Amino acid sequence: MKFGFDIDDTLINLREHAFTIYNKKLGKNVPLEVFKKLKRVEIHEPFGLTDQQGSKMWKDSLEEIYYTDCPPFPDAIETLQELNRQGHEIYYITARPKEHGVRTKEWLKQRGFPIKDEHFYYGMEDHEKAKIIRELKLDYFVDDKPAILNTLSEDTVKVLMKDQSYNRHVKDIPRIIHWKELIEILTKEN
Ligand SMILES: [Mg+2]
Repeated sequence: MKFGFDIDDTLINLREHAFTIYNKKLGKNVPLEVFKKLKRVEIHEPFGLTDQQGSKMWKDSLEEIYYTDCPPFPDAIETLQELNRQGHEIYYITARPKEHGVRTKEWLKQRGFPIKDEHFYYGMEDHEKAKIIRELKLDYFVDDKPAILNTLSEDTVKVLMKDQSYNRHVKDIPRIIHWKELIEILTKEN
């Protein structure tokens, strides 16, 4: 089968990593409990930043957020390696900007994610992901953003949502809380 994965906040814990960086850079100590209750993707509000300031902070910190030691979610690498061993095709579809595509791919490879160069897509807007997912005729696609998954609801691709505090209001898409669950879901469905 063909599996597609979003990267940020689906396979790796990027926002939490960025939250830690913000605390350090801004000399604050906003507890992780606050982060875990955020109802939106953006993380700047608990630091007292406006949306505009938050957007600038994100852009100014991007190098550090992307390329330091952002942890993959537990068992994300192992699960994708297992799918790869089983002979499935694995695709990555990320909205990370074009100029970060190649470095992001290398960063993920170094961490052990199984990646074929031609199966790595980047630099599209969120709403453009659906087009690529359709063209690839994926069997499964996993993302953390409900809007992306909702645009695929009429398609044959089976969508799964990586659980996050800002997507818990969505009840009609199966969710992955821990990555080990993916193999269990597949065993049940196939
Ligand atoms: Mg994401």
